[in-house]
Amino acid sequence: MTESELLSRHRAVLPNWLALYYDEPIEIVRASGRRVTDADGNTYLDFFAGILTNAIGYDVAEISEAIRSQLDSGVLHTSTLYLIRKQVELAEQIAELSGIPGAKVFFTNSGTEANETALMLATQYRRSNQILALRNSYHGRAFATVGITGNRGWSASSLSPVKVSYVHGGYRYRSPFASLSDADFIAACTEDLRDVLQTSTAGDVAAMIAEPIQGVGGFNVPPDGFFGAFKEVLDENGILLISDEVQTGWGRTGEHFWGMQAHDVVPDMMTFAKGLGNGLAIGGVVARGEVMDCLTANSISTFGGNPISTAGAKATLDYLLDHDLQGNAAKQGDTLFGGLRDLAEKYDVLGDVRGKGLMIGLELIEVDRSPSPPAAGVVLEEAKKRGLLVGKGGLHGNVIRLAPPMTLTDAETGEALEILEGSIAAAQEARK
Ligand code: PLP
Repeated sequence: MTESELLSRHRAVLPNWLALYYDEPIEIVRASGRRVTDADGNTYLDFFAGILTNAIGYDVAEISEAIRSQLDSGVLHTSTLYLIRKQVELAEQIAELSGIPGAKVFFTNSGTEANETALMLATQYRRSNQILALRNSYHGRAFATVGITGNRGWSASSLSPVKVSYVHGGYRYRSPFASLSDADFIAACTEDLRDVLQTSTAGDVAAMIAEPIQGVGGFNVPPDGFFGAFKEVLDENGILLISDEVQTGWGRTGEHFWGMQAHDVVPDMMTFAKGLGNGLAIGGVVARGEVMDCLTANSISTFGGNPISTAGAKATLDYLLDHDLQGNAAKQGDTLFGGLRDLAEKYDVLGDVRGKGLMIGLELIEVDRSPSPPAAGVVLEEAKKRGLLVGKGGLHGNVIRLAPPMTLTDAETGEALEILEGSIAAAQEARK
């Protein structure tokens, strides 16, 4: 069966709203290191790591071994009603890494579920369903989480059970405060937060949820210290802070293990997923013990924290730490930023290069600086033709997102820069 036949069958039976990349979508059938191969035998350097899911790359012996040894026991999974050794060990490790005093961990199967759980805990703990989120946010695709997504392309519902108010600070490049210095930007957004609390809430807000760097929204980075200023206001008002680390966790930003650490803030809860399983479905919440334990009813996740995913995740986390992949994210990120900023000087279709470590956003623009989704489309397709897979996103669909596995080598970084130059030059040419 060809990829185009598979595409027709996919379209017939899967939802219309399920996003698919490329004019001619590909089926990935093999992978190794940082490279994936499609059903037609084309091999690509993967600069989106799935969607930041393959944190350490493909076919890593230590991870395969950990999964295989669990499979060999015959216990794929029974239920989480029984003790699971790897679940306990992984929870201990994440609780310690979180820096949250007295932390406890609940495992889920996705980032969406992790955020749904965090919202449930916050609303129960504070007995309020009022939530604050950032404009242009993305937190998942279930009932409550679409309702706190401040990005029209990704939020389908205004019928969610959560009452949400949005504050400024997410998408600085096109924000009314874009021209301000870092300090003034932080002050203006903090003032806006105070104003929203006064004018748009009844004063009983349960929590603020925020991505330290917005992912789907286009890899938007607030200045360091931004959430520190917010946290003071939240503390004054007894509001919990949930840091959505689904994209920013595990050292990907290079300078810190968690994105929120750039703001010198210890949140009340963090949610995580994506990179932890290196491709396996696992997510979770790490929270202050009293917040985690505020539920009085019994609860369970049948699959969250199962033996296979926790064995793979534990091996992934050990690998990340043992090989200092955070350090490599910083190093390769520096080289990429250097090269990409040079490209922005050369090609004015590239309006902004932003991010941290191995989370890099390239905003493509028209001559008048308005968003250029077509230019981003050209970069996506041209990079693929040249053997590089990248991501796309942003409020206007005009941001190319680079987030390769954190095991990236110097040679691969150089190869990607070369392909990106050709692809950006093609977008500049097409814009004329
Ligand atoms: N939170 C953030 C910041 C995300 O980027 C995503 C997914 O892209 C989610 C939550 C939802 O995670 P999942 O797709 O695993 O449900």
